[in-house]
Amino acid sequence: MAEKPAFQVIVLGPNGGPREDRVTGLLVRSTSMNWSAGSVVAVDAGTLLAGIIRLLKRFLPDSKDDNGVMTEGPFKGLELPFETAEANAAHFFREIIGAVLITHPHLDHISGLAINTPILEAGSGPKPVAALPSVLSAIKNHLFNDIIWPNLSDEDGGAGLLTYQRLVEGGNSRFGSGESRGYVRACNGLLTKCLAVSHGRCKQRYPPESAAHHRISSTMFGSDQLMLPSRAISVDHTDGSFYSPARSPRLIPANPKEPIMSTVESSAFFLRDHRTSKEIIVFGDLEPDTVSFEPRNKRVWEIAGPKVAAGTLRGVFIECSYNDDVDDAYLYGHLCPRHLVAELTVLAAKVMEVRDSESATPTDRKRKRMNTSFGADAGTPEQVSPRTKRASNPTSEKGQKLESQPGDYVGELPENFGEDPDSKDVEVPNTARWADADPLPLTGLSVYIIHIKETLTDGPPPGDRILRELQAHAREAHLGCDFFIPNPTEPIWI
Ligand SMILES: [Zn+2]
Ligand SMILES: [Zn+2]
Repeated sequence: MAEKPAFQVIVLGPNGGPREDRVTGLLVRSTSMNWSAGSVVAVDAGTLLAGIIRLLKRFLPDSKDDNGVMTEGPFKGLELPFETAEANAAHFFREIIGAVLITHPHLDHISGLAINTPILEAGSGPKPVAALPSVLSAIKNHLFNDIIWPNLSDEDGGAGLLTYQRLVEGGNSRFGSGESRGYVRACNGLLTKCLAVSHGRCKQRYPPESAAHHRISSTMFGSDQLMLPSRAISVDHTDGSFYSPARSPRLIPANPKEPIMSTVESSAFFLRDHRTSKEIIVFGDLEPDTVSFEPRNKRVWEIAGPKVAAGTLRGVFIECSYNDDVDDAYLYGHLCPRHLVAELTVLAAKVMEVRDSESATPTDRKRKRMNTSFGADAGTPEQVSPRTKRASNPTSEKGQKLESQPGDYVGELPENFGEDPDSKDVEVPNTARWADADPLPLTGLSVYIIHIKETLTDGPPPGDRILRELQAHAREAHLGCDFFIPNPTEPIWI
């Protein structure tokens, strides 16, 4: 690619377990900034110091010039003031990393942060940890709570090494203007905007030791009471609770004796290079919209579509935990190749919509409408949102969705697609529609696969097969994007 890269990404932890030294953690910086104080943002911190030490060790002492500057490897150009990899890694965490973004509070995304934080120094000010309020609430109440780990935050009389930065979901519209509206500063040179995505379901139980448990279990309670935000599990009511039943009213069971099911909230971070306006997206763990009780990926793709069409969105870091052998019932809130490609077809459809509206002549538009892709309902104007269409005619919509056409991707999608009344508002784009597009809708987009679950067997690494399956599905769906499995030692330039 002739274009100068806007981002450097180092994937410190490429996996979703079970090895504790390779769980999810990325470093991102703008190439317009030199390595300097606050020039790097960490996205998730399952692996942090251990990953930096491992990488530094690989290139030390040989790849360091007389001025102490790295000459090779992912940290090329970084000045190392100390001798050992360990001391330099500590310096890197204290000084160079400006903030830590957390996608969701699962241990494989925060364990490094917890264990590493004591090495921070109060003298340099608390390190910002930025995330959605529900995520920070969980970290505050269940991790840095003086029980599981000391309260190292600057709230509630803690040690003051971390400071929680609660992000506005969907972006804070008070900040920025034009294209960068809603974005807030992530670190020097980078802006960010965070959207919530769904990551499976969990049973919400009242902990037996809590007073609320006794109160509620000894009462005949209606669903109204269960909707109250005063959850026993969340001490901090000011910043939202980890479980947000208010967002998922349909998860409240009709029978109050059944456990309440909540959607596990995760995040997608848009990261924007301030100088070039180029962007990448880093997803936390997520489930397919087609199986979710609360499908929210579509919102991310809606925002991403115009950016891909404009060539400003260069890369997506997204999980693909398993290969296609996994049954939909055992996804546990994750993606596998067939589902990831199904998600990317939704993005591709958005890109094609943008292209059509930009390039089509009035006659073309009319023809396209007659030949529209979604749900094969010819004659429906493209401008009508899927939600509106469904609301007006849900039964026939379902029938149409399952109707397969030559080259249609429907056959590849989960068998139960469209059967769950809660997944009604999920579209299956007809990929045949853009089979002859030149370029294909996602051409130029790099998709980096993270969070692969390691199998720890003698066989080939699980990523080999995942990559093959992704490429096969993507070819069939005429996507045009490239898939990569990041190697920590090889920096990614996008
Ligand atoms: Zn995870
Ligand atoms: Zn997770």
